[in-house]
Amino acid sequence: MSKNYRSELVGVFGCPVDENPTGVMEEAAFEKMGLNYRYLTIKVEKEDLGAAMNAVRAFGMKGINLTIPHKVKVLSYLDELSEAAEIIGAVNTVVNREGKLFGENTDGKGFLTALKKEGIEVRDKKIVILGAGGAARAIGVECALAGALEITVVNRNEDRGMELAALIETKTEAAGKFVKWEGSYQVPEDTDILINATCVGLYPNVSDKPEINYDTIMSRMAVSDVVFNDPNTLFLQEAAIRGAKTVNGLGMLAQQGALNFTLWTGADAPVGVMEDTLKREFGLK
Ligand code: NDP
Repeated sequence: MSKNYRSELVGVFGCPVDENPTGVMEEAAFEKMGLNYRYLTIKVEKEDLGAAMNAVRAFGMKGINLTIPHKVKVLSYLDELSEAAEIIGAVNTVVNREGKLFGENTDGKGFLTALKKEGIEVRDKKIVILGAGGAARAIGVECALAGALEITVVNRNEDRGMELAALIETKTEAAGKFVKWEGSYQVPEDTDILINATCVGLYPNVSDKPEINYDTIMSRMAVSDVVFNDPNTLFLQEAAIRGAKTVNGLGMLAQQGALNFTLWTGADAPVGVMEDTLKREFGLK
């Protein structure tokens, strides 16, 4: 009988990357599904990305995740892009399809799936996004492609914020608006979904919260945060006090991981196992 001692390889390239918890979640999923896959957490310096992407081909890796600072630069090493990744201009997941590297962005899709799981749909909704960085771009574009009516980008840096609003306005059916973030932001009364896509509240600064007038959050609004460490952010606590439905950043993290799992293996992902693993990692279970 012949045995196969070779594992299929996936992983993440980033710098810094030591504290990225994705590997634990993906490995738990591979084990649950009985798949002989390994997820490698690999530190790749900015200037070494080209060599690292060649290694993806040379090692016949099934795919790779990209995190800081590689999500935009990686585009020049890919053969094909998804529609969303092309509009967003950033890739967090690469799939190796028999030597052809396909780039996808699952951050925004994972976010949408996490909302949907809580019964929140974005179609025809008015959405306010705080922030205009990588996470905000992915979420804004996916919400727009999923049929949101209007997306307002609120950001301190005018150029970055205006660029994202213009991207939504010109490349999708949704209306894209920009508001410069100065002082305490008043959430418009007709907002359906409010999203914190900044890094405010991220560990170790867990006592920080985005500067908004929390009394303008209404109980009919859904409020979501991308920050997952710690997932019970002050932002979400303030929203919950006002009766809003809240969705934390762990859901997005698990759901984008599940989408990556399926892109690489072709199998359905055991999302529950992935969520539980993350919760354990963050000491919540
Ligand atoms: P970027 O550095 O690309 O963007 C950061 C954004 O936050 C910018 O718009 C910046 O505004 C804004 N910002 C930073 N500090 C403040 C502040 N004090 N007040 C107001 N705005 C501020 O980061 P990313 O988009 O990559 O990441 C953002 C967050 O999303 C991180 O916490 C990350 O962990 C999380 N994330 C979560 C994921 C998940 O699965 N849950 C997936 C991906 C990211 P300005 O432009 O004015 O500087």
